[in-house]
Amino acid sequence: MRKADIIIIGAGISGAVLAQQYAEIGKKVLVIEKRNHIAGNCYDYMDGNGILVSKYGAHLFHTNDEQVWDYVNRHSKWYHWEHKVLAKVDESLLPIPVNITTVNTIFGLTISSEIEMKKWLDQNRETYLNPANGKEAALNKVGAVRYEKMFRHYTKKQWDKYPEELDASVLDRIPVRMNYDVRYFSDTYQALPVGGYTQLFEAILGHPNIEVQLETDFFDIKDEITGYEKLFYTGPIDRFFEFKHSLEDKLEYRSINFVSETVDTEYFQENSVVNYPGNEVDFTRIIEYKHFGNQKSERTTVVKEYTTGEGDPYYPVPNAKNQQIYEKYKVDADALIDVYFVGRLANYKYFNMDQAFKNALDLFGILESSPEPAFKKAV
Ligand code: FAD
Repeated sequence: MRKADIIIIGAGISGAVLAQQYAEIGKKVLVIEKRNHIAGNCYDYMDGNGILVSKYGAHLFHTNDEQVWDYVNRHSKWYHWEHKVLAKVDESLLPIPVNITTVNTIFGLTISSEIEMKKWLDQNRETYLNPANGKEAALNKVGAVRYEKMFRHYTKKQWDKYPEELDASVLDRIPVRMNYDVRYFSDTYQALPVGGYTQLFEAILGHPNIEVQLETDFFDIKDEITGYEKLFYTGPIDRFFEFKHSLEDKLEYRSINFVSETVDTEYFQENSVVNYPGNEVDFTRIIEYKHFGNQKSERTTVVKEYTTGEGDPYYPVPNAKNQQIYEKYKVDADALIDVYFVGRLANYKYFNMDQAFKNALDLFGILESSPEPAFKKAV
């Protein structure tokens, strides 16, 4: 029998934050994680080329939330890092999000001010007051040419659905810059943890009241777990209920096949991330990890990302059908006492890292009537 005051399924952001918060108020916490490492999808490690790489895709931290920024700074030092993304379109490498340079290069123009850019965009986009789907949302934002070159095929590769088959909200999020700003995010805080994410999680989970049990699937030991005050589950919600509402239509997830290779050259590409939005290749992007933090190495590691329907669930697929299925599971989840569904997979909703931190801190605050996060030690 496994006993603890608080049982947490999953050692990603949601699970780790709740474990730390409960440990700080004196609870004994047991974290059960099916993988052989902590840190969930943020997990990183030093590879054979001496480069810090992320196992589940590049993770760039960005937030406007002061409380989250304070929380992560208590557990690691961070260095400022403004992420940039380039996209290979035709034979050019263009900035993403779309900005003046992107438009000038694709259309051979000489736009040089925000006013000109806004005017050009208004003349070249298709206006939809209430876009009905992702295609209309994208046409409304960027117009037909950039939609075709940069978003249509990329969306298909990413979701195995064309934009018209997805909610408008998915492509409504496309940021468009009216200036030359090449930063991928515009949040106040944009940073990477010194020493990597895994070290951050080691610090968060390093409290003596926390026990972490790796390589253990909760569903294999479920019957051994009794006597807890609260259980927090951060895995896929449909799995918790044995897929009972998924007999006809299952809740869809997208996964990624990460194909890593060593290239015997100092640098492979000029930027950490290069997207491939066209249908001339199957992968969505190539990541060269040594760019993050300007790491030095003789050889380099590059990872091609192929989005797929098989494998670990990473991205919930946002459309009306999946939402309806999820709502049925949510009714079941809400009916359970002392079991809480936290995080991206348990809520069937994509969260950035800062949202995952925030949601876990807020949940602790609500359940324990604690207006501030619990801390004892500071870095
Ligand atoms: P997870 O990190 O998925 O943690 C859940 C954990 O539960 C996992 O470790 C899993 O193994 C474990 N688990 C599940 N089922 C069981 C079970 N039955 N038994 C035991 N353990 C179980 N966010 C950003 O802000 N910036 C980025 O650049 C960024 N890049 C991303 C890139 C990719 C490819 C992906 C997929 C996500 C990215 N994110 C990014 C989002 C970020 O990864 C999430 O916000 C974060 O991981 C959410 O944490 P979580 O705890 O909810 O889930």
